[in-house]
Amino acid sequence: MSKTKDNEAPPVIEINAEWCKGCSICIEYCPQDVLALENGIAVVVNLDDCNRCQLCDYRCPDYAITVK
Ligand code: SF4
Ligand code: SF4
Repeated sequence: MSKTKDNEAPPVIEINAEWCKGCSICIEYCPQDVLALENGIAVVVNLDDCNRCQLCDYRCPDYAITVK
């Protein structure tokens, strides 16, 4: 079941595959295990658990991930 409130749009996580170098920093910092590495690129695997903390966004050294 989604943990987002019914009246709240789910977060949108954009990953720029051109900029992502697969360093896994975003995956390590994500407290909710929302992200994983697939074919050397970060991907969203568990959007329902995203709490919008934006740690992934702040920690990515390549500005490759954005949370809206
Ligand atoms: S915003 Fe927070 S919970 Fe959501 S994917 Fe990024 S680090 Fe994980
Ligand atoms: S921190 Fe940035 S560059 Fe590293 S895996 Fe995540 S999105 Fe890709």
